[in-house]
Amino acid sequence: LDDRDGKIWMDGQLVDWRDAKIHVLSHTLHYGCGAFEGVRAYKTDLGTAIFRLKEHTERLFNSAKILRMKIPFSFEQVAEAQKQVVRENQLESCYLRPLTWIGSEKLGVSPKGNKIHLMVAAWAWGAYLGEEGMKRGIRVKTSSYTRHHVNITMTQAKTVSNYTNSILANMEATDDGYDEALLLDASGFVSEGAGENLFVIKNGVVYTPDLSAGALNGITRNTIFHICEDLGLKLVEKRITRDEVYICDEAFFTGTAAEVTPIRELDRIEIGAGSRGPITEKIQAAFFDIVNGRNPKYADWLTLV
Ligand code: PMP
Repeated sequence: LDDRDGKIWMDGQLVDWRDAKIHVLSHTLHYGCGAFEGVRAYKTDLGTAIFRLKEHTERLFNSAKILRMKIPFSFEQVAEAQKQVVRENQLESCYLRPLTWIGSEKLGVSPKGNKIHLMVAAWAWGAYLGEEGMKRGIRVKTSSYTRHHVNITMTQAKTVSNYTNSILANMEATDDGYDEALLLDASGFVSEGAGENLFVIKNGVVYTPDLSAGALNGITRNTIFHICEDLGLKLVEKRITRDEVYICDEAFFTGTAAEVTPIRELDRIEIGAGSRGPITEKIQAAFFDIVNGRNPKYADWLTLV
């Protein structure tokens, strides 16, 4: 990913892709204190537009606040930087990665006095869990790793270090031949996927773990709440057990990268009919209508670049 043409926004300037480098003594590289976002831009009839730019930028600033890091740019500058990288790299639909990290002035656990940096990159990225998974559903395994407790690394921050847990869970699941991992919280209730929120459907009602299970407050998750309301589907946030997932009618993951990905199996137990369920298909279609600018009700969620 590093050896290619294009521009990356780094600390206020567009730099050549290959030159967007940091020092090996950067504090974040050693101790993992940093925050990032995953954002997508979609091709719409009016041009390329970033989906829910405001919400993603807000979450980035909130993640930094939780980590006691002060981003040295304004909200408007960070929003504009995201538009700029999509424009500059002439991308039609893409994934964006803003990341804020602590510089290399000194090491030691306390980063006090070190500079805070910010970068934004963007590149084309298709279906995160595969095109086939989007249609047929993916196979998921309950992780042997527990999701973060709410008072450990802070679960409402999208922090760099939180992802070691996700990486371990994802590698374990994929080494075992599954597509993705599902993590349980410290009490054994369902939390989320390694990089996705979970939804299950039972008797026409849509359920998702409440945030006390340590799941990230996903922006796609919130988008699903709106879609459920539009489709007249009851949506309930509650504690969910792993066996409730086994016996639900339909399940799916959501995330900026994963979009709306159906789940056809958990721990080798078939969910529903073992394929994408009919309500999931409707929600998925409504999601793609919104992000691709085909639903005027949500036009203000799309920021043209
Ligand atoms: N949970 C985790 C652990 C994630 O990494 C993501 C992706 N950012 C999500 C949930 C979904 O969040 P969003 O819909 O805002 O991308």
